[in-house]
Amino acid sequence: MNIPFFDYPKLYQENSEEYLAILQKTLSKGSFIMQSELEEFEENLAKYLGCKHAIGVADGTVAITFSLKAAGLMPGDEVIVCSHTFIATAAAVVHAGGIPVVCDCMPDSTIDLTSAEKLLTNKTRFLLPTQLNGRVCDMAAVTDFCNTYSLTLVEDSCQSLGAMFDGEYAGLFGVAGSFSFFPAKTLGAFGDAGAVVTNNDSVASHIRLLRNHGRSEDSKVKFFGYNGRLDNIQAAILNTKLSSYTDYILKRRSLAAQYNQILSTCSAIRLPPQPNINDTKHFDIFQNYEVAVPRREELRQHLSSKGIGTLVQWGGWMLHQFDDLNFRSHAPYAEKLSREMLLLPMSHLLELDQVTYIATSILEFYS
Ligand SMILES: *Cc1c(COP(=O)(O)O)cnc(C)c1O
Repeated sequence: MNIPFFDYPKLYQENSEEYLAILQKTLSKGSFIMQSELEEFEENLAKYLGCKHAIGVADGTVAITFSLKAAGLMPGDEVIVCSHTFIATAAAVVHAGGIPVVCDCMPDSTIDLTSAEKLLTNKTRFLLPTQLNGRVCDMAAVTDFCNTYSLTLVEDSCQSLGAMFDGEYAGLFGVAGSFSFFPAKTLGAFGDAGAVVTNNDSVASHIRLLRNHGRSEDSKVKFFGYNGRLDNIQAAILNTKLSSYTDYILKRRSLAAQYNQILSTCSAIRLPPQPNINDTKHFDIFQNYEVAVPRREELRQHLSSKGIGTLVQWGGWMLHQFDDLNFRSHAPYAEKLSREMLLLPMSHLLELDQVTYIATSILEFYS
């Protein structure tokens, strides 16, 4: 077998005729920027999440930046972020004018509020938790924390479209939530794409201005904005993929259950929480299937020799471990995890027998 970590060509090949027809239709009428396809996608995304506003933007990083700006971030505000996240989370804070402050993560990879509490100063204004790997943080605790310390909540929910905590979707707990449609994300475009979601009308209007040079509908410029629009073609493609999205998630959950079932017999490996329909708190969508393993590099070589691709998230560096960025944080759990974490192939394009092959190859290595 040959199982790449992520099969990019298959993302197109799985449904190429339909995608070509959409491109043909959209391109031939010259609908490139901010046309009906974008509006339709925004409506359907808002409908899917049951929220008031979904606003297509250029990518997930821009989505976070705009969310923070629209939520009222002022220059110099400190924003607490979790160490186990993409650099984009912290970059968005900096681009919005804030100062990212990095706290530790917990064994399920979500934010450690005890660690966050120690970092509070009189400049702390925001909490920006990452809904990592398709799992939502304990949002009851996060919301309490924000209320107690008067922090504004904005979510980096880029990895968690459709994931839930206590029956509510990721992205809708705070002022705004951000999504990325990078090709390898659960809802993958054919290039860069993203969205902001919110139930707040004025935040939504502000983001619509931010993404389009600060220009209102009568062409008056209200403030200096950005070119941060979602391409119409990408919106057209995303719109058709969105109609199958529930199936993508169910497929991912069944693959995760298969991994868990086989790998749970090996005590050397730490597994993510398994998808459990009786768990009313968490509905995970498995953007990633991340395990913690001993002898990681040897295992990767063993899997590679069997045709299986794996990936170490963030190249193995937690947010505060990039020396050139001068974070002076300490996040012991994240640091330990950085040496053990490993992503196994996970995608709706994968088949059950492929997961069985990967999981049994791992057991073989540790036996
Ligand atoms: C993908 C991702 C983003 C945003 O990525 P873009 O490439 O800008 O769309 C932000 N945060 C996390 C955790 C991500 O995984």
